[in-house]
Order: sequence, then structure tokens, then C-alpha cells
Amino acid sequence: CGIVGSVGTESAGPIVYSGLENLDYRGYDSAGIALVGRELTVAKQAGEVSELRVPDVSDATCGIGHTRWSTHGPPTDANAHPHISQNGTVAVVHNGIIENYESLKARLLKAGYEFSSDTDTEVIPHLLERELDDGHDLLAALERVVDFLEGSYAIAAVRAGSDRIVATRHESPLVVGHGDEAAFIASDVTAFLDRTRDVTYLEDGDIVSLEDNGVSVYHDGERVNRAIETVDWDAD
Ligand code: GLU
Repeated sequence: CGIVGSVGTESAGPIVYSGLENLDYRGYDSAGIALVGRELTVAKQAGEVSELRVPDVSDATCGIGHTRWSTHGPPTDANAHPHISQNGTVAVVHNGIIENYESLKARLLKAGYEFSSDTDTEVIPHLLERELDDGHDLLAALERVVDFLEGSYAIAAVRAGSDRIVATRHESPLVVGHGDEAAFIASDVTAFLDRTRDVTYLEDGDIVSLEDNGVSVYHDGERVNRAIETVDWDAD
């Protein structure tokens, strides 16, 4: 239901956590965070954001978080996002529904991938891992994976060992925030409005890469320029 991410020079855990708090008006049944270091550190569970213990990885400057409103699979700890790839190196948060997840899951199961949730979402980290194993970088992997997906989605993904968030949207909102010390991604500007008012509203089919040296947006494989707008209203 709600996505938030931060990458920059500031500690990501508290930023992602407060982003989840800011998004809680959207309603949710589960929450989770993944912080990026040499390995991923994940905390996720059914229940309130306030019950979530942010992993104490204070040197992590890249992370993503999620509040879940279940569509596929009951609100359990295992079904909470982020979802992790088989080898544990990719974490994904997702809003929306992957309509064709059953056929994707059947093919992945046949190829030996094991699933640890009932969600439609979990096909995404496994598909990303497969593309990474084929030698693509995380951005190229996401570009290839969206070709397989049907449905409505906003997706953000991270990989162990690299301070980078890649994200995309199709019929589900996703905005980028441009802060001084960090870049943010969220389903809604209210997630990071206390940190920056400079935002880019992504378009359907955009794929974005956020790193501590900047934000790049791609569409149909080409780099594109998207306007930076200033939000002039306040969250309640
Ligand atoms: N369909 C996904 C799930 O059930 C995401 C739901 C959401 O948007 O929170 O886990």
C-alpha cells in the first residue's frame, strides 16, 4: 500500500521509518524495512509500524520500506514486504497486484526457486535475481523484469553491497524527492515532505535509479528529463 526509500549520506533506517509513519493514514496491515550494507538487513511483520523494530544498522545509508494492504495472502509476518530473492541479495517492496503471478511462480518453481510467502509480489525478487545472475545490473534487470509483469504496480528494489534504489510504476503512483543529503522514493509525497519539497512525479513506465550522486529516469530504455516541482502545501 505504501512504499518509501532513501539513499544518500544520512542514516536510512530512521528516514524510512518516519516515512512509514507518515504514510500510515493510507491504512495497512503489515510493515517492513530493508537496509542495505554488504548484506541486507530486513525487519518485517504483520501489525503496526510502531511495533516494527528498525534494524540497528546506523551506517546503512540506503533502505526501503513498505506498509502492506494484503491482496494475495493473509497478513502474516512471512507475507509482509520487503520480499527477498532466493540468495538473499535482492529486496523488493510492491504496491498493487501482479495479475499473472501464478504462471510466473509456476515457471520459477520449475526452475528451482523456492518461495517463502503466498504473495503475488515474491515473483519479483526471484525474477530480478535471475536477471542479475545472467549478468545484468539492477537497473537493466528491472527493465527486463517489467516486461514479464501484468497488472498494476509500483516497485522499489535494492541489492546487497550497492547504495542504489531502482523503482518503477505502472498504474500505481510513485514520486521521487530530491533532498540535499539524500534522494527519496515514495508512493506519496507526504512520506518525505518533512525532508524535501522538491519532487518529481514519475510517469507510467518510467524506471528510476536513485544513488547518492543523483537521480536518473529512463523510459523505453532512453534517459529522459522529468520536471522537478515544488510542493507548496503542507501535510495535515
Ligand atoms: N499485492 C501485494 C500483496 O498482497 C501488495 C499489496 C499492497 O499494495 O500493499 O502483498
